[in-house]
Amino acid sequence: MVSATIGKAPAPKVRDQQLFIGGKWADSASGKSFPTINPATGDTLCQVAEADATDVDRAVQTARKALESGPWPQMDAADRGRLLLRLADQVEKHARDLAALESLNCGKTLADSFGDMQGVANTLRYYGGWADKVEGRTIPVRGNFLSYTLRQPVGVVGQIIPWNFPLLMLAWKWGPALACGNTVVLKPAEQTPLTALRVAELAHECGFPDGVINVINGFGEITGAALVAHPGVDKIAFTGHVETAKIIQKAAADTLKRTTFELGGKSPNVVCADADLDAAVAGAFHAIYFHGGQCCTAGSRLFIEHKIHREFVERLVAKAKKRKLGDPLEAGTEQGPQVSKEQMDKILGYVDLGQKQGADLLTGGRRVGDRGFFVEPTIFDNVKDDMAIAQDEIFGPVVSVLPFQEVDEVIQRANSTDYGLAAAIWTKDINKAHLFAKRVKAGTVWVNCYHVVDATTPFGGFKMSGQGRENGEAALEHYTELKTVTINLGSAKKNG
Ligand code: ADP
Repeated sequence: MVSATIGKAPAPKVRDQQLFIGGKWADSASGKSFPTINPATGDTLCQVAEADATDVDRAVQTARKALESGPWPQMDAADRGRLLLRLADQVEKHARDLAALESLNCGKTLADSFGDMQGVANTLRYYGGWADKVEGRTIPVRGNFLSYTLRQPVGVVGQIIPWNFPLLMLAWKWGPALACGNTVVLKPAEQTPLTALRVAELAHECGFPDGVINVINGFGEITGAALVAHPGVDKIAFTGHVETAKIIQKAAADTLKRTTFELGGKSPNVVCADADLDAAVAGAFHAIYFHGGQCCTAGSRLFIEHKIHREFVERLVAKAKKRKLGDPLEAGTEQGPQVSKEQMDKILGYVDLGQKQGADLLTGGRRVGDRGFFVEPTIFDNVKDDMAIAQDEIFGPVVSVLPFQEVDEVIQRANSTDYGLAAAIWTKDINKAHLFAKRVKAGTVWVNCYHVVDATTPFGGFKMSGQGRENGEAALEHYTELKTVTINLGSAKKNG
């Protein structure tokens, strides 16, 4: 268990960073680097080597070599599992330092980063357990043949991840990929390059063979695009924006790469009048403001039954006004900065748009201070389904309240966006809960809870929220190729 007390953490010291390829640190071929920023201050933390197509090629060739020769393809599946278990232990051992570095670079509170580290360890351990349980089947084929299936690694996997959960997304991608015997080239988001490099170093110390894990940083349009286009990459696993996924899917078509996508959401969070209101207020608050709204599952469309609408909104506003924003490394901070100036400006742009389109701004909507990228918890009331703030993923601490009258009506309205990642309902009526769970178009449905995500449970989206599933047994399918082997049993008697 991650067991450090969550107090204040001193800001970790960071040095300039290189690429991690084939178990070694290296500068980029061009010698270029880019600054990474502390979002709480706007100051540069360090320079990070920037990979271009030449470096991507080197990383992919290294990953291919490790896939096809050397210790990795020879290793017993159980031993691959042991490496993942060892890495999980190392993440727990270093949780305090990793959490502080995560908070420094992406702005999430130290408590939230600790939560992530436990999630990282859980995920690596869960998939460590799977490594020697990925099985084929024997099939009762017609004729005098023996047919069976093998599940084999897809190959070299390019993994492109976002900035909101840098290490957790790494674990969701590395866990199943490595358990199934693939090799990986990971590209973290350009905003948050630091922690993945540190965990790559830990993986090296744990004994993962050189070249199995490679981490290269850089910008999406350059480094990410080169990884997607590279003919030596067999699969791209991507988490990020839906518009980026469309670009990747088109680019991946040239080499017919396998792709899996975990994308955005505009998740409906429905509160019925019969709900436990204390729990629902706390749950709705957590649903939208966890990590400053920078979650793909954020409960950003809050449907409230008209009978409790006024009281519920008043309680939510009172809580929002009390929220403590500040340095994510300080004890007691409840909300850190948004990840970047770009994100902050985008959020403030939506606040303007919401007001122009006629929604009622009840609280928040402004930048806090003039240093770092802090935005007040924001509540819009009486939002209409077709307003931009009810349709677009804002990825910030902005909730749209939409009153409703009946369950049938709210299910239909809940389904009226392009997204389908998550949904929740708060009610004591079991019939309503099951009806909603069955009819809402979302990959995850929560009843009387929110943001409960676990390594063991499949996660992904309906509609434009994604393709494929991560976590649970479901992820293994996306990291293996299924091979059918059929053996002629010759003249042997079929039932003999
Ligand atoms: P966000 O808008 O939240 O930053 P993005 O989808 O732009 O989401 O970024 C998620 C990840 O996708 C990042 O690692 C980013 O560098 C990468 N990325 C962005 N554009 C491309 C692209 N054209 N090809 C490949 N990867 C990309």
